Amino acid sequence: MIVTEEKPIEEILSFIEPYKNILVLGCDGCTQPPRALKEAEIYAELIRIAGKLKDKGYEVKTFTVSRQCDNNILTQNLTDQLEGVDVILSMACGIGPQTIVETFPEVVVYPAQNTVFMGSENMEEATLYEKCKACGNCVLNLTGGICPITRCSKNIMNGPCGGTTADGKCEVEKDTDCAWYLIYNRLKELDQMSTFDDIQPVRDWRPGGHGGPRRSIRIELTQPPEPEPEPESEPEKGGDRK
Ligand code: SF4
Ligand code: SF4
Repeated sequence: MIVTEEKPIEEILSFIEPYKNILVLGCDGCTQPPRALKEAEIYAELIRIAGKLKDKGYEVKTFTVSRQCDNNILTQNLTDQLEGVDVILSMACGIGPQTIVETFPEVVVYPAQNTVFMGSENMEEATLYEKCKACGNCVLNLTGGICPITRCSKNIMNGPCGGTTADGKCEVEKDTDCAWYLIYNRLKELDQMSTFDDIQPVRDWRPGGHGGPRRSIRIELTQPPEPEPEPESEPEKGGDRK
């Protein structure tokens, strides 16, 4: 899931200050905490209250789409909602506002969230943990399924660095498990210590975005749709049966 944190309401109010007609747009997609219609309505109410206090008279409406990161979904669902709207306040991760800007260049869009990381949720600890930095060249096959790029504070590929504490914590963050301590134990458990002993070559970081914004071409969307199969013709009734 993509983890987001709400921006302070004062910051949001500073964005929308010059505008009157505001659309707070939820996203039913993958943000965590959820940022769909219910949350959009809460933001809308806060903006209305702030508008009254500041004598601004904001007109605020809400809407949500299944995913703000899909220009097709936006075109089909949002176009009718934009009439009279001065500004959209997007509840999605940072991909949402950028997709709206590309789809509707005439509309002003501001983010209501800070996008923090991609992670997983531990319900018992009520905490979200970062798990992947979308590095473009996954090495989990070498590391027992534990990501050193995300979970090692120094992103090192041939760990540990030598600073692991006696109880297996990271020297940079004492309340964080040392990723390489975890990797070592996991590979041992899997009887894959020969992988641990292999020295990994200097990493090419370009697939991780260091060579500019990345793109992924979806070949299947560039092909014409397969023709529907012809329905099988019914056998003629009343014919001779042999
Ligand atoms: S190695 Fe790269 S793709 Fe794999 S989990 Fe780590 S950051 Fe994500
Ligand atoms: S102590 Fe472990 S997690 Fe921390 S920087 Fe060193 S190898 Fe990475």
